[in-house]
Amino acid sequence: MQNSIHQEIDIETSDKTKINDVDFNNLDFGKKFIDHMFYCDYIDGAWQQPKIVPYQPMTIEPSARVLHYGQAVFEGMKAYKDDDGKAFLFRPEDNHRRINISAARLAIPEFPKDYFMEGLTTLMKMDKDWIKPGIGNSLYIRPFVFAIEPAISAAPAQAYRFMIICSPAKAYYTGKVRVLFAETYSRSANGGVGFAKAAGNYAAQFYPTSLAQKKGYQQIIWTDASSHEYLEEAGTMNIFFRINDTLVTAPISDRILDGITRKSIIQLAEDNNIKVDVRRVTVSEIKEAARNGSLKEIFGTGTAAVISPISAFEHSEEVFEIPDQDDAYATLFKKYLLNIQHNLSDDKHGWRYEI
Ligand code: PMP
Repeated sequence: MQNSIHQEIDIETSDKTKINDVDFNNLDFGKKFIDHMFYCDYIDGAWQQPKIVPYQPMTIEPSARVLHYGQAVFEGMKAYKDDDGKAFLFRPEDNHRRINISAARLAIPEFPKDYFMEGLTTLMKMDKDWIKPGIGNSLYIRPFVFAIEPAISAAPAQAYRFMIICSPAKAYYTGKVRVLFAETYSRSANGGVGFAKAAGNYAAQFYPTSLAQKKGYQQIIWTDASSHEYLEEAGTMNIFFRINDTLVTAPISDRILDGITRKSIIQLAEDNNIKVDVRRVTVSEIKEAARNGSLKEIFGTGTAAVISPISAFEHSEEVFEIPDQDDAYATLFKKYLLNIQHNLSDDKHGWRYEI
């Protein structure tokens, strides 16, 4: 029966909504959660009955393997609403594909697509009021899966929990960010887990990022671990460089996450006859381009921030300011993407998924 037959979701609804306790104009991102959550356990080699229940604490044993070995992966996606009250996801099947790519690398069993899509859309329909219309408003969706088996030998677990929780969001970063190019610490290694949304990838960035923040930089742009000469991606964003009128971004590899926003931007650039070079980008090249004025923009792309323009970077104690552009690609692409997500423009690639 495993993985192929659709099972009805067991639903327990909450008696009372918490929505009136939330100030949607002053959201502290990721701290308030919608009324319900979805979960499904993997036991004895099969995914069990999927459930939706009121959002609540849960019990796991202190010996749960995730707490010892970090066997956990997650996703980040969003739901949007148009002014007529229709709600949409953005390329959700790509998130499903990616969580399973991540899961496979961490020896976690794949989660079936019909469970994922059915769980997600049922949850969205139940808590649709939490998706607010208006550009910049969204509901951030966090699917994740982790090892719950109580056993502390260092081996893959026999039991897992897959869950979806959701938190209302405004755009994540506001304004431009200043970044530090990594020279000492690394985010990922050849043959490692950089391409996966493994929980530990993020924990490992907190300390170096806190050092960068003390120097006045919000984010680190990670470089390759062996030479620190190739620019790869930021902590939760892929990175694009605009050199003259061409966009340059690093190719996906086993060290870089295959961002859904990244590939959408590459497509939108093609649609608008903007040249994109997907190739390795060196620190020296970008410093030289900043010096000679051909570096017009750097921006990050990701579900949370959509597009985050970068105003300055530091490398080897040298700071490079990037002047504002009148016709910034970052502004243009942000508008294109938000318009598609909020049902304000054509969706010729079929990225919107109506709930
Ligand atoms: N890189 C990393 C390391 C990330 O965590 C994210 C966020 N998922 C991204 C890039 C951007 O990916 P996406 O556009 O799919 O959100």
